[in-house]
Formats: sequence, C-alpha cells, structure tokens
Amino acid sequence: MTGPKVVIIGAGVVGAALADELSQRGWDDITVVDQGSLPAPGGSSSHAPGLVFQTNSSKTMTRLARYTVEKLAALDLDGEPCFLQVGGLEVATSPQRQAELHRRHGWATSWGLDARLLDTEACLALHPLLDPDTVLGGLYVPTDGLAKAVRAVEAQLRQAQRRGVRVLERHEVIDVVTEPAPDGSADRVVRAVITDRGRLEADLVVCCAGFWGPKVAGMVGMTLPLTPLAHQLAWTGPVPALAGQQQEARRPILRHQDADLYYRDRYDQIGIGYYGHKPMPVEVDDVLSVPAAEVMPSVLTFTEDDFAPAWKESQRLLPALGEATLESGINGLFSFTTDDFPLLGPAADVQGFWVAEAVWVTHSAGVGAAMAEWIVEGHCSSFDLHECDVNRFEPHQLTPDYVLARDCQNFVEVYDIKHPLQPMEAPRPLRTSPFQGRQAGLGAVFLEANGWERPQWYESNVSLVERRSIPRPDPWAARYWSPIVAAEAQVTRERVAMYDMTALKRLEVSGRAATAFLQEMFTGNADASIGSVAYGLLLDVEGGIRSDVTVARLGRDRYQVGANGALDLDWLTRHLPPDGSAQVRDLTAGTCCIGLWGPRARDVLAPLTRTDVSNESFKYFRGQQLAIGNVPVTALRLSYVGELGWELYTSADLGLKLWDTLWAAGQEHGIIAAGRGAFNSLRLEKGYRSFGTDMTFEHDVWEAGLGFAVRLKKESFLGREATLARQGTVRRKLSCLLVGADPGTGADGVVLGREPVYDGDRAVGYVTSAGYGYTIGRAIAYAWLPAELSEPGRQLRIGYFDRRLPATVAAEPLFDPGMARLRS
Ligand SMILES: Cc1cc2nc3c(=O)[nH]c(=O)nc-3n(C[C@H](O)[C@H](O)[C@H](O)COP(=O)(O)OP(=O)(O)OC[C@H]3O[C@@H](n4cnc5c(N)ncnc54)[C@H](O)[C@@H]3O)c2cc1C
Repeated sequence: MTGPKVVIIGAGVVGAALADELSQRGWDDITVVDQGSLPAPGGSSSHAPGLVFQTNSSKTMTRLARYTVEKLAALDLDGEPCFLQVGGLEVATSPQRQAELHRRHGWATSWGLDARLLDTEACLALHPLLDPDTVLGGLYVPTDGLAKAVRAVEAQLRQAQRRGVRVLERHEVIDVVTEPAPDGSADRVVRAVITDRGRLEADLVVCCAGFWGPKVAGMVGMTLPLTPLAHQLAWTGPVPALAGQQQEARRPILRHQDADLYYRDRYDQIGIGYYGHKPMPVEVDDVLSVPAAEVMPSVLTFTEDDFAPAWKESQRLLPALGEATLESGINGLFSFTTDDFPLLGPAADVQGFWVAEAVWVTHSAGVGAAMAEWIVEGHCSSFDLHECDVNRFEPHQLTPDYVLARDCQNFVEVYDIKHPLQPMEAPRPLRTSPFQGRQAGLGAVFLEANGWERPQWYESNVSLVERRSIPRPDPWAARYWSPIVAAEAQVTRERVAMYDMTALKRLEVSGRAATAFLQEMFTGNADASIGSVAYGLLLDVEGGIRSDVTVARLGRDRYQVGANGALDLDWLTRHLPPDGSAQVRDLTAGTCCIGLWGPRARDVLAPLTRTDVSNESFKYFRGQQLAIGNVPVTALRLSYVGELGWELYTSADLGLKLWDTLWAAGQEHGIIAAGRGAFNSLRLEKGYRSFGTDMTFEHDVWEAGLGFAVRLKKESFLGREATLARQGTVRRKLSCLLVGADPGTGADGVVLGREPVYDGDRAVGYVTSAGYGYTIGRAIAYAWLPAELSEPGRQLRIGYFDRRLPATVAAEPLFDPGMARLRS
C-alpha cells in the first residue's frame, strides 16, 4: 500500500471523483464508505438530471466545469457514455436577459470557453420546440451537455477499485475519532472512522457526504455552512413532437433563467427543473435515513402546487408541451452555500480532516482533481481555489441563522442578474464600525463587505459636485454610483478626506518567535527597526500569491499585519510553530481605522498630537504610537489612495472620539468623509493591486508586477525558490489599460471587471478591476494579457456587453509615478 490511510465518506459524484483522482496519483490505501447501496446510494447524485452549463462569472468554477466535461466525455461504463455532449443553450425572453447573455458570453470568452451568441432563428434551429415569439436570442456553448451522474460514479469508482481502492456500501459513518495532535499544538488529529459495521483506521478523512456534510463535519466539531434545500424536478409524459426519438438526448440542454427554469430531453420526454418556488430548507437532522426513506433520503414528495407556474411557463416557452402531461416529479435535496461557492479544503484545527462539499455535478470531476492535488501535494496549483476554501468565512458567517438566511436567498437568486457591486440585502446590518452613526448622519450610502457596512459615498457631499464636469457611465455601470463618488475622489487629491478602513483585516503576530515566523512567511523584511512598515506578499511553496500584506513592527516581538481576509488568518495560523512561540490574533473586530489622506492631512493631524508628524520625523512607511487628543492611536504612514496621510488605528470604544476629533479639526481644511467608490478610483490611478481581484493564488509576483515587494536578499522565505525559478519566465502580465479612444471621451469606457480583452478579434485576456480615474480623466482597466501584448501603446479592445471598447496599454502607475505625493 502507498500513501496514508484515507477514508472518503460518501460515494456520490464527488467522493467517486476524488477516489479516482487520488488513486491515479499513486495512493491506494483508500476506502470509500457510503451508507446507501451503490451505484445510486441515495444522495443528490442519485437523481440529478446532470445538466452541465460551464459558463460562470468565476474563472475557477468555469475551469472546474471544463475539467469535468473533458473527463466525463472521455469516460464510459461498459461502452455507455458518461457524458452526452449535446451543447447548452441559455435563452433570453427579455431585453435585460439578452444583455445579460452578452455579459455571460464575455465571461465564457474571458475564461477560454467557446460560446456563441445566437439570434432567435439560430436558437430554433438548435431547439425547434422553442416558441419563436417568446425567445429573443440565446447563448450557446457547444461543449456543454448532460453528465450521467450515476454512471459517472460507477465508472470512476471502478477505475479506483482497479487501483486497489476499497468501496464499502451500506456502511453508515457514525463517528470520526480524533486525538490530540502529536506535534504539541492545540490541534486534534484524525485517527479512525466508526461505522455502524465497525472501525476503519484513518490518517486522513475526506467528507464528501453531500448535504449530510454538516452532520459528518460536526463529528469533529467543525461547522460547515451549507443548507440542504429542496429543488423541483419534474418529467413530462411522452411529448408527441418527440415521438420516436431514439437517442436519449438530441437537443441542447436549455435554460430559461427569466423564469427560473431549465430543461433536458430524455427520449420522448422532457425534464423540467425549477428554482422559482419558495425556498424549502431542510434541517440535516430531519433527513430520513436510507432504510426509512420511501424512495431515497434526498427525494421528498413533489409539491405539485409549487410547480404550477413552472408548468404554465414551460408550455409558453415550448408550446409542444401543451400536448403532454406531467408524469412525475420530485422535490430533490442538494446543498446551497452562503456565497454560492463550494466548501473545499482542510479543517482549521483537525489535522487530517478535509471536506469537499456543496459541489454540483457540473464541477465534480474538477473538484476531485483539485482536491487530490491539494491533499497529495499539500497545495493546488492547477486551480485557484481561493473562492472555494472552506476557511474563508468570518465567525458571523457560520452562525445557523446567517447560513439559513443566505442559503435560502441564494436559492431565490440562483438565476438572477446580479451587478458586481450588488450587496446582500439581509441579514443587515451586521458589522458596523464605531463611525456608523456619524456616517449615516452624513447620508452614507452603504454597501456591504464581509458583513461590514461600508459607505460607498456620502450624499452630504452633493454640493461638491457643482461646477465639476463629471462624466456619467452607462446605465449598468452607473448602478451603485453617483457623481458624488467623483467629487470625493477629486477632493481627496485637492484637500483631505477621511476613509473608514475598519473593514480591513488586521492581525497581530506576537511572541518570541514572531520575527522569525514572519521572516519565513513574508517576502519583505520583518526584521527591521521598531516602527518600520513593509509591504510584501505571502506566497505558497510554488510562488503563487496567497495574499499581499503590510507588516508593521510595533514592538520587539509584536507586529500588526494588514491583511485581506479570513484566509490570511488561516494561512498564518496553519504555519505557526507548534510550540506556541509565536501567535496570531485577529484584531479586526475590537479595533477600527480611519484613513486620513490628502495633501492637507498633516495640517489636520499636527495640531492634534504632541508627536512630531513632519516628513522628517514621521517618514513614509513608518509607524508610531501617538495620541490624537484623548485617543491613543497606532499611526501608519501609508496610503492606498496615493496621497500623503496615515492609517489611524484605535480600539473600537474610542473610534467615535477619533472620528469626531479629526472631523472637527479638519473643518478649516475642508475635510470630507469619502467612500469606497472614490477609494477604488484613486487606487486604480495609483496602480495598487487588490488581492482576489487583480491577482490570486494562480499568479506569481513577476506576472503581477510585484517583484519590488520581494526581498530576494533574504536567505529564506516560503516560496523563495519557486519565485527565483519563475523570474524571467513571465508569459502573462497584469497590465494597465486606458479605455475609450481619446482623453475626454467621458466615462463611456467604464467597465466593471471580468470582461474579455481582444487583440483584433482574438480573445487574449480579461479585465480584473476597472473604474474611472476622476483625477486623471480616463477610464482605467487592469487586465491579464500575454506578455508580448502588454507593452505600452498596444491597441486592444474590451468586450463590454455587445460593444468592443478601444483600449490602450499604458505605462503605470498613471498617477504620481515619482511618489512625490506620498513622500511629501
Ligand atoms: C433535483 C436535483 C437536480 C439537480 N440538477 C443538477 C444539474 O442539473 N446539474 C448539476 O450540476 N447539479 C445538479 N444538482 C446538484 C447535484 O446533484 C449535487 O450537487 C451533487 O450530486 C452532489 O454530489 P455529492 O457527491 O457531493 O453528494 P451526494 O450525491 O449527496 O453524495 C453524498 C453521499 O454521502 C453519503 N453519506 C452521507 N452521510 C454519510 C454517512 N454518515 N455515512 C456514510 N455515507 C454517508 C450519502 O449516502 C451519499 O451517497 C441537482 C440536485 C438535485 C437534487
């Protein structure tokens, strides 16, 4: 036997894919257990109709789907195919949806998926049952199709079994045994899985238990934020127009998102899936056991009344259904999550316990491959999994009420057209900074990020708009926008503004080994004088960017790390020395931060403190503890907007006092409160990257233009060897584009991110973040481009809905390349 002893819990399409992929990598001491009987043990995979639409706004999700298609299309079971590549057609029945299909076409193109926009006639040629008077057009992906989920389970398990994997059906896992980790840390480690038919020793347990996941994860004390929700699937009787159809499926799978519906053929019948009914969540403890379930645990009784609107609408879209009847239906259970992404990865504090949960059939084989690589190699380079990592959640996002509310809402919105800035509506407000009352008083328009209420702009600044010529973006880009955003950005560069930076993740790293720990984790120099601040990266062993952070040394053994999110906390915690000689603590909730930025920032600050804040005494990229009036503050001289100023941190209880003190002192200097809209515009002008949008795990520092943040002189840091090896091998580059033909063409060049970039008619890259630079007067888009197309002056085009906007590669940064403002 090679590899550790692995137990995979669940033989649905995810567990089967994982067993196959793990064994393909040479591990063979693997046991797959399932409580039901194979090949259809009774979970979601046992009755999924298997539609695989690959197009997704997420590059990773599209890539996971593509892998699934490619794998299943090459797989058969005794000569019977595991994938029917009939193509996928999404139709529009409203002008809004038609525009949305253009946006979706853009995503597909950005991620390298062949997709085509069709007129009504072409849709009918592919799917003759469609009503020509209802359909306005469509999006067609020729490689989409139908996964035969049960067959795929069996075929993948058989491959695994041929490599020595054991498969135990009718074994219910009732406990997972853990014990204290031998490394002396506070973690636990898995030892065995207890089933109703005996104990299985295990070094590694992977929970692929579908919507039972929370129950299984609960066995090791882990909270898994997903909810089983029932979703209606019905089958017609024979449709006369399909009489005699010999193939299982001939027409493309079909989506009618305007009415929350999808369709597939099955010989002379049509399967209809519906998301338009009310959410029907089920408590995982209320799911029937395999013996108690009438059909199978994941199949609930079809509630025909809920389906009535779907049936009526289906007869409108596909008039031939008027001659058919509904023959059968189920309310079938599967998992929804709070942000629509799967839950993948290792538990935070139980070594050897992993999850692969809330995965659609569409992404199943891709997830199997990604998980196998992650488990065997210790990291996954083939797919960027930052959106899927199970450790991405903030504590409030794991509360049962939050999970239930968000999962139900995501069911309701599954086919909705969502603007990139659209915030969740409920539950809100959740996290509020101490400044919230003042902000509301200034007419803040709040959006939401990670539970935080964040002002996008302040209505009280409306008078600033007068006498400024502010270009207006097109109606789509103008959602969640106001000309006040522009005025706030301009006033920041002219005078001074206060930005609420409380939502920025702050971690404290401390302990006698803190310096050595950070030196190993961080590409910059942490071992500099007290008061130093360094910008750098957290890298994985392959040199992939895990995060970009600022590290401020506040004491001999105490650092404040400005990070990006919960994954940074997880990453650092996971790498701590087990002997407790360094610790990481999340400071975010108990503290707050104001960014005081603009040419008059020093004029505001200086009279409020006895500390000398002159340029000579308080240099750029330095930090000091000081008092602002009665408020003790950690001041870091940094600015993400590219202006003179400070990030001012204090404890949450004193936040309001800090706000009021700065606000009062700032009046004579024309201070304003400014929101996230202005912030984003200013940071784009300055070329500051945003982790998760501009660069992620899949990129290295050279590609991302962040080589300056890597101190190769340091003998050792995580990712150093790979980073050195990747130097000079750059084939793609994060590049700055100016959008719109000429200066002064207005904001009619504002794109929002994820749009494809074309060289002539060839798609060559995609936009990451974008916006209007209100102080340089140009629309800006950052984009990943092939290195050979990234030289300044190169003319390209950006696909924005049905338009191609001219774009020119520009030298960056666009604003203050000499850093005069920041160092003033
Ligand atoms: C009606 C319906 C239509 C759908 N349509 C589509 C579609 O068209 N396209 C698409 O991509 N997806 C679709 N889905 C979603 C898709 O079916 C699921 O997301 C997917 O099948 C989940 O696979 P899984 O392997 O994670 O879970 P499952 O298939 O549920 O497998 C989990 C397995 O774990 C086992 N298990 C759980 N607990 C234990 C335990 N304690 N001990 C032992 N074994 C245990 C279960 O018996 C089960 O076999 C649909 C789902 C439904 C319900």
